[in-house]
Amino acid sequence: MSGLRVDDARVTYPGTPPVEAVRGVSFDVGPGEIVALLGPSGCGKSSLLSAVVGVTPLAGGTVAWDGEDLARVPVHRRGFGLVFQDGQLFPHLTVAANVAFGLEMAGVPRASREARVAELLAMVGLEELGGRAVTELSGGQRQRVALARSLAPRPRLLALDEPLSSLDADLRGRLAVDVRDLLRATGTTGLVVTHDPAEADVMADRVLRMEDGLLV
Ligand code: ADP
Ligand code: MG
Repeated sequence: MSGLRVDDARVTYPGTPPVEAVRGVSFDVGPGEIVALLGPSGCGKSSLLSAVVGVTPLAGGTVAWDGEDLARVPVHRRGFGLVFQDGQLFPHLTVAANVAFGLEMAGVPRASREARVAELLAMVGLEELGGRAVTELSGGQRQRVALARSLAPRPRLLALDEPLSSLDADLRGRLAVDVRDLLRATGTTGLVVTHDPAEADVMADRVLRMEDGLLV
């Protein structure tokens, strides 16, 4: 089995009683495929996504890539990227430094880093803005920087948690197309969480519906 395989995934938060946010979910995402997880607020989408990425522990089940169980593979060694709703850029760094961040962590030498940053900024249409402070960007520009930053280390899977939710409707429509095209152009496997059916249809090859901790 190549690509992502999630089998009977469960996420439980402590409490009295405990919150069973994900109650046994199974699905595959093939290499290069883009799958959307669609469902209302509170149905467990973010919990499932963060368990796939490895940020949140599984209470049961498995996450595997190319048949390898990732239970003992730490977040930074999974080759997965994560994009949040509000981008979570480093506010004290420039656009270019934000995009370079993952490459620097990975020890990529300066010259190839700079070339890769330029390539990514061109891909997201921000080639002129490398030197700008991220605090001086529009919401849409910030999300483009977040995308460029997450794609820079060439993740094998990019997980996106409501990446367009903080943008206004018009911009959201355009950026949904851009996100899909970027994932396709880079051959990146995508798992995108959204509560917007139209957005899911635009971005994904396949839409999985989630309700109350389960796929329906
Ligand atoms: P969605 O992303 O679909 O809105 P979440 O995965 O954020 O759903 O939340 C699913 C359920 O788990 C909700 O009932 C939510 O209140 C609960 N939940 C999420 N995060 C936590 C947490 N850190 N601690 C306790 N409960 C949580
Ligand atoms: Mg969420």
